Amino acid sequence: MKVVLQDLTKIYPSRTRKGEEVRAVDAFTFEIPDGKLVGLLGPSGCGKSTTLNLISGLEAPTKGKVFFGEDDVTALPPEKRGVGLVFQNYALYPHLTVRQNILFPLQNLRGKEKLTKQEMNTRAEEAAGLVQIDALMDRKPSELSGGQQQRVAIARALVKMPRILLMDEPLSNLDARLRLQTREEIRRIQRETGITTIFVTHDQEEAMSISDLIVVMKDGVVHQIGKPQSVYDEPVNLFVAKFLGTPGINLFTGRVQQETLLIGEEAVLPVKGCADGKVIVGIRPEGFIPSEHGCVSCHMERVEVMGRDTSVVSTHPCALNEVIRSIISAEDVPNAASGVIRFEIKPNKTYLFNPATEERIRFTGTEQGGET
Ligand code: ADP
Ligand code: MG
Repeated sequence: MKVVLQDLTKIYPSRTRKGEEVRAVDAFTFEIPDGKLVGLLGPSGCGKSTTLNLISGLEAPTKGKVFFGEDDVTALPPEKRGVGLVFQNYALYPHLTVRQNILFPLQNLRGKEKLTKQEMNTRAEEAAGLVQIDALMDRKPSELSGGQQQRVAIARALVKMPRILLMDEPLSNLDARLRLQTREEIRRIQRETGITTIFVTHDQEEAMSISDLIVVMKDGVVHQIGKPQSVYDEPVNLFVAKFLGTPGINLFTGRVQQETLLIGEEAVLPVKGCADGKVIVGIRPEGFIPSEHGCVSCHMERVEVMGRDTSVVSTHPCALNEVIRSIISAEDVPNAASGVIRFEIKPNKTYLFNPATEERIRFTGTEQGGET
C-alpha cells in the first residue's frame, strides 16, 4: 500500500515562555510507493521519529495529511491504521513466552476481526517462521539474544498483517555483527511480504544498504529523496554530500577562475559553466588517483590497509578536514618515504558547493570528461 504525506508538519510548542517552538517536521510532502522499503535517514533530532509517529498515528500533525492508499488516515487512531511498529527497545513482555508475545496482538481483536485459537496459532507460527525463530517459541525473552528478541518484536508486528510496517532504529541495540545480519533479514522479510516499510536510522550505511529509496532529513526538513546510489552520486547540497559515505567526502576551499577550478595555486579541473568565485570542493575518497604529475599535491601521512581497500591518509593546506582520505587500489600504493603525494582527480567524484548557501554548483567537464 502506498503512503502519501501531504505537507506534513509537526510543531512542538516551546516549553518556556521565551523559548522557541520546535519544527520537528516541516512540510514533508512525498509519496512512498507501494511495496518499497524507504529509509528515513538523518542525524539525531532531525525529526525521523516524529515523522514515523505521525504516520503511525501516535502523534497528531500540526498541519498536513497522511493517506494510506486513497484513505485519509490523518484522524484515525493508531490501532485503526493497521500499522506494525518495531522500536529500538524490543519491549517484549518478560513474563510471556515467545509464542505468547507474538500471539498477544491477536488476542485483543474484536468483532469481525476476531480469530479462532487455531487461526491465531497458525498466524503466530507463520510470523515466527518468517523471522526464523520458530524453534524458540517456548522460551522467555530473557533466554534470547538481542537479535533474537528483535526478531520476536518483528514477528509480533507482522502477525496482525499490517498494511504498513514502521521501524524506528530497530538495530541500534544490537552489536555490529548482529546489526549487519539483522538488516539483511529485514530486507529479506520485506521482500517476501511486500509490505510497504519505513525504516528509520541515523546510520547512513544501514539505510543505503537496504533501502529502495532514502529520505535525507535535517532539522525537520527533507533535503533529498532518491535511490541510495543516486543520492550518493548526485547530492543536492553540502549536508547530503557530507552525510553519506564512509570514509566521508573530503572538503577543500577552492576557487573558480575562468572556468578552471583551483585548489590553492593548483589548477585541478576545467569547470565549464561556473562563475568566478570561492567554492567548497568535495572529493569522494574514491575520486583520487595517485599520479606522478597529478594536479593536487598533498603531504603524505600514512597508508592504511583496511581489508580489501587501501587508504592513503594525507594533508593539504586547503583541506577543511583534518586529513584527506583517499581509497586507492593496492597496485597504486605510493612510496610513503617521499613526503609528497600527487593525485589526479576524477571529475565525476568531484562536487562544488556555494560556500554561503551550501547548495551544489553544477559544472560540465571537458568534452571527454562529460557531464558530472
Ligand atoms: P530523531 O528521531 O530524528 O532523533 P525526533 O523526531 O525524536 O528526532 O525529534 C525531532 C525534534 O523534535 C527534536 O528537536 C526533539 O527535541 C523535538 N521533540 C521531539 N518530541 C518532542 C516533544 N514531545 N516535545 C517537544 N519537542 C519534541
Ligand atoms: Mg528518533
